[in-house]
Amino acid sequence: AKEQGRNNYQFYTTDMNALTQQRLSLENDLRQAVERSELEMYYQPKVSLKDGRIVGAEALIRWKHPERGFVPPGDFIPLSEENGLILPIGEWLLRDICQQIRHWHDEGLHPPCIAINISGRQFQRQNLPDLVAQIMADSNIQPDDIELELTEGTIMSNAETNIEMLVMLKRMGLSLAIDDFGTGYSSLSYLKRFPIDVLKVDYSFVRDITTDNNSAELVRGVIGMAHGLKLEVVAEGVETAAQLELLRQYGCDVIQGFLFSKPLPAGEFAALVKADRRL
Ligand code: C2E
Ligand code: CA
Ligand code: CA
Ligand code: CA
Repeated sequence: AKEQGRNNYQFYTTDMNALTQQRLSLENDLRQAVERSELEMYYQPKVSLKDGRIVGAEALIRWKHPERGFVPPGDFIPLSEENGLILPIGEWLLRDICQQIRHWHDEGLHPPCIAINISGRQFQRQNLPDLVAQIMADSNIQPDDIELELTEGTIMSNAETNIEMLVMLKRMGLSLAIDDFGTGYSSLSYLKRFPIDVLKVDYSFVRDITTDNNSAELVRGVIGMAHGLKLEVVAEGVETAAQLELLRQYGCDVIQGFLFSKPLPAGEFAALVKADRRL
């Protein structure tokens, strides 16, 4: 038994070392990813259920690693939040998106509002409003060209101090969305006080609405409540016609998901907008 215990222990440490090693090398690679232009923004269309037209897009980061291929954001965004790399990466992507919008305007294409994910760590920064204002000025774009997405978790931790930050961003004329709604803890009284425009219902609820009555009732209830608070509702992760049909019945405003389109490189997204592709 003692022998076995030792073996287990050794196995465990070897395993942990391999994991730590892997993580360190990913971290080193990520440090260089920006300089090496391995990061690219993709755009996933959002469509209105009123007329089926594209009313916006969410910008989603992609990392094309020279050896590993595409590394999903779920594998490096949380890591970059922990080690602080999200700050330079977040600044890079804000700039990249705003310059892309500028470029589209210059080409005569008027892209709909582009939603940008802001991580918790970026949001905690005092200078976020200044940074956003500076980048918008540098690329000569207007506040209504972009929307900021903040997760429910980010907003609700330190809700009192966060209200001030949200109010500042709102005063700049930016549209604000609560992302992943339903996955965290939200106090309804806060929801009423936050200067929020859009509520994004999390994928995990949308996924189950056609098979699970509780998810369906929850989504229906959230949509009703959001409309009561004059918020627009976006359902994320819509994959099937059956899901779309239910969301329509519930009065959902906008959908985003593979049913209409996957996240696309900038050029392909622009082509969809130009073609005025409808749902
Ligand atoms: P999120 O903000 O909730 O983004 C939505 C995710 O759902 C995206 O995953 C998108 O590709 C995926 N998705 C869209 N439609 C469907 C669908 O119909 N079915 C399914 N199964 N998935 C769908 P992605 O791009 O892998 O991003 C994962 C998460 O990584 C994001 O979740 C967000 O939290 C984070 N992330 C991605 N890009 C950025 C970024 O630029 N900045 C920051 N701070 N976080 C980002
Ligand atoms: Ca998002
Ligand atoms: Ca989301
Ligand atoms: Ca989500």
